[in-house]
Formats: sequence, structure tokens, C-alpha cells
Amino acid sequence: MTFAWIMLASTLNFFYKLPSSNEFVDDEMHSVELDPIDTSIKQLKVYITGILAFYATILGKPNTSNSQCIWCDLRPKFLGMKEMLTSASKWTIEKLKAAKARYDFRTSRSRAKTHKTEKGVSASPLITAVEPEDIMFPVLHDQIGLVNKSLDHMVAYVEKHVEKLGDGHAKTRKDLLAAEKATEQALDELDQSAVSTKDLEETMDLYEQLYGLLDKIFSDLRKILPSEEELVDLEDAIKYARVIWIERLQISCTPKAHALFDGHALEQHKRVEGLGDKTEDFVEHGHQLGLRDERRTWNIRNFEACQRSQIRNTRRRNQPIINDIIVQVTEGRNGRM
Ligand SMILES: [Zn+2]
Repeated sequence: MTFAWIMLASTLNFFYKLPSSNEFVDDEMHSVELDPIDTSIKQLKVYITGILAFYATILGKPNTSNSQCIWCDLRPKFLGMKEMLTSASKWTIEKLKAAKARYDFRTSRSRAKTHKTEKGVSASPLITAVEPEDIMFPVLHDQIGLVNKSLDHMVAYVEKHVEKLGDGHAKTRKDLLAAEKATEQALDELDQSAVSTKDLEETMDLYEQLYGLLDKIFSDLRKILPSEEELVDLEDAIKYARVIWIERLQISCTPKAHALFDGHALEQHKRVEGLGDKTEDFVEHGHQLGLRDERRTWNIRNFEACQRSQIRNTRRRNQPIINDIIVQVTEGRNGRM
């Protein structure tokens, strides 16, 4: 009976403390009237959050996160091309399984050692209970990726047109002078790439606008329950950033850029009522812990021994009893002070 009570209580929407038998005879307790029990079934929605490489692996598309989109099957060379978006269809678990079957059929008939993937698919999906559309756009890692990419682009521009270092490679003027013929030819090329101060200022202005927009976009994507007005505002910002990225600065459209500029991020942000509470920041925290472990064990040459040491450390870090003792000791120390 008590067990049934606990089961029932745990399904209720409110928190109610079960009274002990003594409390039942208490007059005050008898006067308490409970709200009618809400027996409606609440559906839980499950989302997956993580980084693109992890998503690609669980969808059966390992090692494709730098070329293929997670959510649609748009061909890599069409990423960022608005007019080609209609040629893509959204991935579902069923479609992924069908692609894997086609891949298996093709590879079984071929003698080649390596095989072309089927739109990125070369393995079975690992998690079939969650559809790809419920795999969340990685707000933090997309931001890191886009900002790094556009910074590299800007540095290459400045090296080529202002510092005249060639295509941003390691060739410095000093190296060029060492070979006179090459120097003359290279300088000729560089002269042709010279830009006017006006062009330079305009281009730098575009980068400045782009960073302002990216700043706004990624902080907006961290909102929970965005209002209609905020969504329109965000859509405009993405549209402007897209024009600068693809048309004006002509930075290449990677899967990360495609996910933001071709609509996946905004569609999800609307549908799941804000990506703010579904971000993958914890992954970055995990990366840092991993890096620390790697640094701690860098001198262990034997791979197995190195892995054992890292696993031992992770286990120790996640051990509730040890963590509890750490909290008690810290509190005790604070109390004494
Ligand atoms: Zn896509």
C-alpha cells in the first residue's frame, strides 16, 4: 500500500510530503484539503546535445562532420547555396537505415578496400530512439567554429593585401628576397593584389559588422522561450550575417556555417522554445578535464598504462563518496575560519 502511495505521489505534479502515522491523527492534518489529483499523462521530450563529431558518429556517419550536414542530406558542395536547399531532404532514422542498407549492398559487390559513403552514411545509427531533428544545434561549438574561421579569413586577407606576405603562408618577404627571380615574380603578383585604402576600410568594416552580428546571434540562441519579436530580430540578424559571410566576404560555407545560415539553428530554436537550456557547454568542460588528464599522463609511453591512469582518475573524479568527503572537508574548513 505504502509503495503504491509512493508511486502515485511521484507521478503527481506537486510535491507532497507523505505524513507519518502519528501525523494522521493530528487535528491540523485532517483539516488539510488536497488539490484534486492530476492523473493526466505527461509526455517527456528527449533531446540530444553534444558536438558535431559525436552527432555524426551516432547517426552512422563517422568522420563526416567537417563535410556533411547533420540534419539534412545536402551535398557538401551545395552548402550555403540557397537555390540548392530544396534538393536536400531532412534525415530521419528510417532514411539513415535505408542509406546504410544501400551502402552495404554496394560494398558487398565491390572489391575495393575503401568505399564511398552513401551521402556520408557508412554505419548503422547508434541511437534510434531520437530522431535527427531532436539533435540540438551546438550553440557554443558552432560559435567557436565560425569565429575561428572568419578570424583566419581576416588574417589571411590582411597578410595578402596589407602586409603582402602572399597567401597567408609562411613565405615572408625575407624568404622571397633570397631567390631574386622568384622575388620579382612574387612582387609583381603582390602588386596586382594591392587594394586601395577605401577597399581596405570597407572590408574591415564588413568583418566588424560580422562579429557584431555573430555576437548577437549566439547570445540570442541562448535564450529560453523567445518571444515572437525576438525571433524576427534573430532571423534578420542571421540573414544579414549570411550575406556578409557568403556573398560579400566569400568565406567558405562549412557544415557549421550551413547549420546556422541555412535555417537549421533557427528552426530548432523556434520548435523547441529556445536552445538556451539545451546547449552543449558541458562538452567543453569535459574537453578541459580530458586535456588535463592528457597533460598529467603525457610521459606514460605505454598506451594501455596511459589509458588506465586516465580512466582511474575519471572514476575517482566521479565517485560520489569521495566528492561528498571533499564537500564535508571544505565546509568544515570554512566553518573553522
Ligand atoms: Zn543541412
